[in-house]
Amino acid sequence: MTRCVRCGGKMVNRRVDLAKPWGDEWYVVRNVPAHVCGQCGEECFDAKVLMRVDELREAANESGERVEVTVFDFAKAGKPKEKEAA
Ligand SMILES: [Zn+2]
Repeated sequence: MTRCVRCGGKMVNRRVDLAKPWGDEWYVVRNVPAHVCGQCGEECFDAKVLMRVDELREAANESGERVEVTVFDFAKAGKPKEKEAA
């Protein structure tokens, strides 16, 4: 069982909407797998999940589409690309 780094509470696996800054803009990724503290709501993400989020963000950028906020759904992204371990 993973413990919260902030309060020591139990972390549960949930899917959340992740909002992150990207330059001057923000983007939102829906249904990102996260560990969420049942006590304080602290969220943490696996490194491989964040890597996949970056891949999705880059793909969204290459499309050339400009919107106020880019929203994409992690659950519909398919399998992650194979990458060498850092
Ligand atoms: Zn906590």
